[in-house]
Amino acid sequence: MKPYQTVAIAECYEPLVEIPKDIFGFVTPHPYAKLGAPYGKKSPFYVRRGVCDRLLLAHTTLQQTHPGWKIQIFDAYRPVAVQQFMVDYTVAEVVRSRGLSLDQITEAQRAEIFQQVYQFWAMPNVDPQMPPPHSTGAAIDVTLMNAEGDVVNMGSPIDELSPRSFPNHFADSAHLSEKTYHHHRQLLCSIMVKSGFKRHWNEWWHFSYGDQVWAWLTMQEEGQEEGAIATNQPSENKLSKIAHYGRAA
Ligand SMILES: [Zn+2]
Repeated sequence: MKPYQTVAIAECYEPLVEIPKDIFGFVTPHPYAKLGAPYGKKSPFYVRRGVCDRLLLAHTTLQQTHPGWKIQIFDAYRPVAVQQFMVDYTVAEVVRSRGLSLDQITEAQRAEIFQQVYQFWAMPNVDPQMPPPHSTGAAIDVTLMNAEGDVVNMGSPIDELSPRSFPNHFADSAHLSEKTYHHHRQLLCSIMVKSGFKRHWNEWWHFSYGDQVWAWLTMQEEGQEEGAIATNQPSENKLSKIAHYGRAA
């Protein structure tokens, strides 16, 4: 169990809404749908309404210093079945990249590979108290596009299982190009955080508002002790947060 999964979570009856196509950029075809991920009638480009409002705020903030730039949406809403599909796919890719096959790996290799994958992918947990963050409609994977419509180089692709994905990987680099990657990651982070989002500690592209990761990070910043998170009694502890699900119609 990850520490943020102890945060209480409840349905907030906010609908999932489509992210406006005329304001944001989108990675199309959608990278997971293209692989055959089971979306059914659901769309990966939906989020909880309150999350969409904050994305619009981040877009407005971006215009103040970078007119014509856009936030590009890589992924947003993700049913648990898609989370399962993508974890299975990623594990298979890691196994394949090492020249191994799934039915031949040892238990130790399997454990080590899953540990690597779960550093970046949430578990496809069907327990409603421990949902994958993207399955709540509160988490989004994003990057930036410049005024010419080109995707901004952040130094590593979204979803790469490597230390280059860590937000501060290039922070202390002396190379000009790597300093620029870091500057762009900071720009993305600053417009998102100003709008209420929190960034995931391992992924420069992942932000959320209102899920368990967001609540847990918020409580950490406010200095709340972990023990108080699980009890979640506002009358005793004013800093307690409750995470929320969006409502998938
Ligand atoms: Zn994500």
